[in-house]
Amino acid sequence: MFKSVRFKLTFYYTLTLLIVLSLFSFIIYNNLKNSLYEHMDMLLQLRGEGIADALETYMEAEDFSFEDLKSLKNNKKIAKIAENLIRNSRYDPKMSPIEVKIIDSEGALLAYSEDIADIPPISENSWNELIEGNAIYDSFNLMSAENKKYSFRYYATPARLDKHTAYIVQVWRPMYQTELALRHLMNIIVLWVPLIVILTMTVGLFFARIALRPVHEMSAAMRKISADNFKIRIMPPNTKDEIRELADIFNEMLDRLEDSFISQRRFIQDVSHELKTPLTIIKGELEVALKKARSVNEYTAILQNNLEEAEKINRIVQDLLTLAKFDNRDIELDMKKVNLEDLLYSIVEDLSRAIAEKKIAVKTSLKELYIDADYSQLRRAFLNIIDNAIKYSPEGGEIKISTEDKGNEIAVIIEDNGAGISEKDLPHIFKRFYRADSSRSTSGFGLGLSIAKNIFDAHKATINVKSSQGRGSVFSIIFPKD
Ligand code: ADP
Repeated sequence: MFKSVRFKLTFYYTLTLLIVLSLFSFIIYNNLKNSLYEHMDMLLQLRGEGIADALETYMEAEDFSFEDLKSLKNNKKIAKIAENLIRNSRYDPKMSPIEVKIIDSEGALLAYSEDIADIPPISENSWNELIEGNAIYDSFNLMSAENKKYSFRYYATPARLDKHTAYIVQVWRPMYQTELALRHLMNIIVLWVPLIVILTMTVGLFFARIALRPVHEMSAAMRKISADNFKIRIMPPNTKDEIRELADIFNEMLDRLEDSFISQRRFIQDVSHELKTPLTIIKGELEVALKKARSVNEYTAILQNNLEEAEKINRIVQDLLTLAKFDNRDIELDMKKVNLEDLLYSIVEDLSRAIAEKKIAVKTSLKELYIDADYSQLRRAFLNIIDNAIKYSPEGGEIKISTEDKGNEIAVIIEDNGAGISEKDLPHIFKRFYRADSSRSTSGFGLGLSIAKNIFDAHKATINVKSSQGRGSVFSIIFPKD
């Protein structure tokens, strides 16, 4: 299950989703956290600075000097002002949870809001900063009666007079609201991210199963296919996706395999048939010869006959061996400059008996053209094609053999006005052992063109046929010039 494509696909997809969601949650959480803290700091600063500014304005208005503050009377006045300032700003709805404490530069308490808690003193470093005239942010914790920890954020700023820190205004606020909001968001993330991931995984597995169902059906169909059961084909899914493509390709492959299976079987039949006929003749003649004593002339005639039949067998076996060698890429071409004109004339010469027997008119239009080729292989290939032209022509037919220099190619064209090849047979004639049904009465066993094609392929030449049944065929062989 864990190794299945379905699981892997869903797993990678879900993993990606998990990473994206986590990253997204992390960004949202941090953004919210920063902006909440910034907001809180801004509020604290606003309030602290407001009070400190008011104190400074008052001291300036009264024309106090730093020394004046030591007087009890002045101190009491300022304390009153400070209390008022604190009280007035407490009713500001935006600032309500903020507490305030004002101390003088010696640390003595001047005024404070009603809900003042037992807050810890400002650290020494922070104190020094304040005395120098800088504002600071910091936080502290308090324990409640129930032993619960509460965190607070505070801001402290100096109220200055004559370049001295006269008072320190400290404002603070509990952080529980901010913490609550963040905890709430965290709870949502912790709950929903895994939930979404699990949901996606489940739905993903379900859809992956639907998407991959055709693959399962295909494997089931493939399992049924065997050598005896080659007719089975996969039902391609009614889509235009990769699976459909795979099914189509697989079916095409089965077509080809079936073809080659059928032609293999046909081949065995054909070979057996081709070998059987001469062997039966040889056997029959030998039996007749052995029945009684014969004259030397009779023996000679029988042996002559047997020799011809043995030669036929030899030809079949030679052809099969040649094809096997091409299959195993075991043929080494002996490349030399070959004059096509001489080669084709010599083939016509070789076949002159058959040509004469069928009273065929051979018209040639040959030029002295040279190609690099293995002479004997090339001769064999052209011989097969010209031999076919004679074989499949009626008595008194006409064959044209011509060569043409086409600049970067050389073409050899062999044309006959014989039986022609039907549209149905045309795509198959280069296949091994393939013979058109209409050709069964002529000698041969379907290897000639196959061998010729192998030879032309080895010479990087292409062979094309144009043919219409009853009208004749044109075979063109094109050699590229290097
Ligand atoms: P074969 O020994 O049967 O001639 P080939 O491989 O040479 O085998 O040819 C395969 C088949 O192609 C033949 O059986 C024949 O049906 C067809 N064919 C080849 N050449 C011609 C041609 N010139 N005219 C008509 N049919 C041809």
